[in-house]
Formats: sequence, C-alpha cells, structure tokens
Amino acid sequence: MEFQPIKKDPKSWSVQPNLLDYEQTYAAFSWDQIHHELDGLPNGGGINIAHEAVDRHANGPLRDKLALRWLGKDGEVMDFTYGDLKEQTSRFANVLRSFGVQKGDRVAVLAGRIPELYVAALGALKNVSVFCPLFSAFGPEPIYQRLMRGEAKVLVTTKLQYKKKIVEIWERLPALKAVLIADIDEDLTENVYSLPKLMAKASPEFTIPPTDPEDMSCLHFTSGTTGMPKGAIHVHQAVYVHYMTAKYALDLHPDDIFWCTADPGWVTGTSYGVIAPLVHGVTNIVDEAEFDADRWYTILQDQKVTVWYTAPTAIRRLMRLDIKPLEVYDLSHLRFSASVGEPLNPEAVVWGKAVLNLIIHDNWWQTETGGIMISNYSSADIRPGSMGRPLPGITPAILHRDENGNVEIETRPSVEGELALKPGWPSMFRGYINDLERYKKCFVGGWYFTGDLAERDEDGYYWFIGRADDIIKTAGHMVGPFEVESALLEHPSVAEAGVIGKPDPVIGELVKAFVAIKPGYDPCEELRTELLGWGRKKLGSAVAPKEIEFVEYLPKTRSGKIMRRLLKSRELGLPEGDTSTLETTG
Ligand code: AMP
Repeated sequence: MEFQPIKKDPKSWSVQPNLLDYEQTYAAFSWDQIHHELDGLPNGGGINIAHEAVDRHANGPLRDKLALRWLGKDGEVMDFTYGDLKEQTSRFANVLRSFGVQKGDRVAVLAGRIPELYVAALGALKNVSVFCPLFSAFGPEPIYQRLMRGEAKVLVTTKLQYKKKIVEIWERLPALKAVLIADIDEDLTENVYSLPKLMAKASPEFTIPPTDPEDMSCLHFTSGTTGMPKGAIHVHQAVYVHYMTAKYALDLHPDDIFWCTADPGWVTGTSYGVIAPLVHGVTNIVDEAEFDADRWYTILQDQKVTVWYTAPTAIRRLMRLDIKPLEVYDLSHLRFSASVGEPLNPEAVVWGKAVLNLIIHDNWWQTETGGIMISNYSSADIRPGSMGRPLPGITPAILHRDENGNVEIETRPSVEGELALKPGWPSMFRGYINDLERYKKCFVGGWYFTGDLAERDEDGYYWFIGRADDIIKTAGHMVGPFEVESALLEHPSVAEAGVIGKPDPVIGELVKAFVAIKPGYDPCEELRTELLGWGRKKLGSAVAPKEIEFVEYLPKTRSGKIMRRLLKSRELGLPEGDTSTLETTG
C-alpha cells in the first residue's frame, strides 16, 4: 500500500517549532553556535554533562523548577527540583569520592527506573567518573559480561537484584570494590553498603572538577554478532548533540513536560531519559512501571505531557487495543511525539494521526552515535515509513564497499546500500572498551559504517531496510545471537545452538534458538521447557529465547561458522541465497 505524505499545517502549531526551515538550518549550522548555547564549567574548566543538566539550572532562575517527577509503580510520586537534584547528585559524587572512585572509573547501575538511578547517573558524571547502566531485566550472565568488560569499580543496585544476580558472579569480578544498595537502611555485609546511609552522611556540596570535552562520560554496552557485548565509550562533549537534537528533533521548549519511555539501561533512556531534557531545563517525567495502556494514557493526561518520546513496540501495543483514547483521556496537552529503536511502520504513523490526532515522528540513531542522527521534524512533512532527514551537523550517506576497502557513494535515489556517517560529530563513540580492533573495523574509507542497510530518496529522506548483520532487535532491545548461543551451550544437553530474530507483529523480532542436542538426550517437550527456563535464568527475560526448535544439526560454513542467515531464510520460507560455503555434512 502507498502511504501519502502527511502535510504539516502551520495553523495547527501551538508553539512555533525550533526548526522552521530544514534546508536553511542544515546549511547554516555550526557546532560553534551550539557551544555558545551551553554554559561550560566556570573558569574555562571544560564541559561537564552534569553541570549542563543540573548545576547551571540550580545555580540560576530554574533552581525551584520541577526537574524530575518520578512516578512509582505503586502510585507514589517523588518530585525533584533542579535544586534538589543538585544537592542529591553532589552527595552521590561525594560518596563516590569516599570510595576512591576517580576520573574515568566506571560506576555501574543495575536497577529499574528508581530515583537513585538518576541521581547515581548524574552524580557519577559530576565526579567525572563513568556511568555504566545495566538493564534490570538482564540475568546474571549478561550482567557479568558487562561488569567484567567495563571493569566497574562500584555498583549501585537494589537488594533483590544483588541477591539474585550479583552474589553469584562477584568473585569473578576483581575490579568491583563496593556495592551500594538503594533500598536498605543498614550495611548488609562487608563491601555491601546502605546507599541511603552513605548519602545522609555525605556533604551536599561538590565542585565539579575540570572536565575535558574528551573525558569519558558513559559506557553503553551494545551487542555484537560475532562476540560478546561491546562497551561503546562516550565523552562529555556528547552533550552538544543531546542538546541540539532535543532542540531540533524533539522540539523541546522551556515549558515542556517531557516523557521518554525508554529505560536508561539502553542508550535512549540515558541520552533522552536523563540528560537531554534536563539540559533543556524542562520537566522530565519518569515512570517506574512497565507498559500498560491505561497507565500510559493516564500519565500523558494527568502529567500534561507535551512531548513524548517512545518506541514502535509500545505504539504497536497501543494500536492493537480496542480503545479510542481521545474519547477516554484528555490528551490535549500533547504537542509532539517521536519514536526510535526499530522501524516505525507507516501504519503506525497513520494510526497516530487518526486515533491520537498526533503525528509520530520517526527518528534513527544507535548506541554508537550517542544521539539522534536522522529524524522527522515538527515543521516538515512526513513520509510515513521514512526515518527522515539528517540532523544539522550530521552527514550520512548510502555506501557500497568491496573486500579491499574501496568505498563508493551511492548517488542514485532509492538504491539500497550501507548506511554510513561522516565521523566527527561530538557524541560519536570514541572506542569499544578494550577492543580497538572491533572499533577500527567500523571505519572504512573515512566513513563510520552503522551496520544498517538503507536507501535515500530523491529528496534526501532515508528509508530503513534492515541490519547488515545478524543482530536481533526484540521489543526495541538489541540482542547478540552469540551471547544467547553461548548461554545455551552451557547446558549439558546442547551440542550446538544457532539464534535468530523471528519477525513478530508486535515486538519486531522474537529471539528464536535452533538447538542440536547431544547423543543420549531426548528432544522432548520437557527438555524444551527446561532449556527455555535455563535461558531465562542465565540471560534474563529481555535476552532469553522465547522459542526453541530442535534440529539434527545446524547449517555451517566450511570454516565452521553457523549460517544464521540460512536458518532465518528457512524459518521464513525464503530463498536460501548463496549456499556455496555451506558444509555438506552435518
Ligand atoms: P541500539 O544501538 O540498541 O540503540 O540499536 C540501534 C539500531 O536499532 C540501529 O542500528 C537500527 O538497526 C535500529 N534502529 C534504531 N532506530 C531505528 C529506526 N527509526 N528505524 C529502524 N531501525 C532503527
């Protein structure tokens, strides 16, 4: 079905968009201009994300403005003004100091969306130590991999997470010196402390040390296809991109009430669920609970949310329900909405317009880019199904390359190729931690290769085609097949495992494992249930396979690599493509 462009009508704007003329803003843009719109540390001390997000507002007229409203899953509400956040994050920075945590040391947080997570993230940045979020639905194995690779020195978590996941892996984590527990009043055991107690003792005064724009700020793990997760290193000057993109792609204005539904365990939840709204001095809504349609619509209504940043999986969940939201809820404050993380079906854009009277603006970026790179804009017409056009300061291209590293730019419209970006924007990742080789491989011929396939139409709109690799996107979360296969292989019955993303109408893809079992085991229902449970226990619900199929053997290349692409084509009943490297015996 052809989807017609959606025209924007300036008469319907309740506020004037920040980006009024795309072409003109793109052409005239300079990072210098953005630099001047931010503050910088006093006395030429550099640029620190926490200063831009918290202290500069707390030291000025926004001191008593509501910075963060936390909605607990059981109905509690906690409000933090910019002044409150300054005090809390300063206390946390002092707590880190008391443990000898220094510039560049990693501070991991494993927790749901609790207030302490936000305080720890910003407090760690104040101390110029590095915020490393861990998704709370990860099981012990993904957590171990990330803490170990990130060499985290301190972990902030809850009592339950600690008992369920950390106790069993800590002895394999020599760098981890202390665990700070958010929900206990007394220390638990040696090196396991009550965070509230530490916070109460810590001074509320903290002067942010000089921060180089290139000092490491966040370590975000993302999945690979061939190996364990990679820790993407980000730096403090990424804040220029957080600010600029929230201005142009999310159209934030000073009086906005902003809600980003992403969890800070993933990069969107940090860049836009913590940093960007605070840098803009707006009110940031945080909901602790998981998706629930009535709850979400009620939050949009009661909190008078004006700008909403969410994800295709959530939108598709809302689309499936038989509710006419505008007849039940007052969503009249909602002015702008955007979506990221997976392809946003054109049907979803049309649904948003028809059912919410709201255009959902798709945008594209990834862990490595640190901020939004391609977007639809408040003032510009929408082509449903397109990710939009590049942000000012960002130069993407559709490229082709050969094995010798020769790169050719695709100039014809609507021809598929690899989506690449010209390096140099401030929030570009600066490396994968302790993995220079993998980092270097991303750059060829002066371009950063994103791992996505896309095309560009004659007017410069980008259209997503798919991943160039085997990475799975399930409910917006990246899952590396290798990580799942490794966990399954640890089960005594499993000889081989191959994991793919199987298309799913709601969550995009679901994790499906093909398993060949060892002689002596019976491929029965009981074993399947046991393996599903094994996956959940080791990997956690966000990563574990949802389907397991027993096979006699897995298709492999002659060099022994599992051909996941072939597994996927077979699953989907598609042509098998080039199988010349397929090993003929099992
Ligand atoms: P992550 O690094 O976990 O944020 O995942 C980034 C990947 O998600 C991208 O490389 C894409 O494959 C996918 N992605 C993100 N945004 C979009 C979008 N708007 N449309 C299609 N795919 C997207």
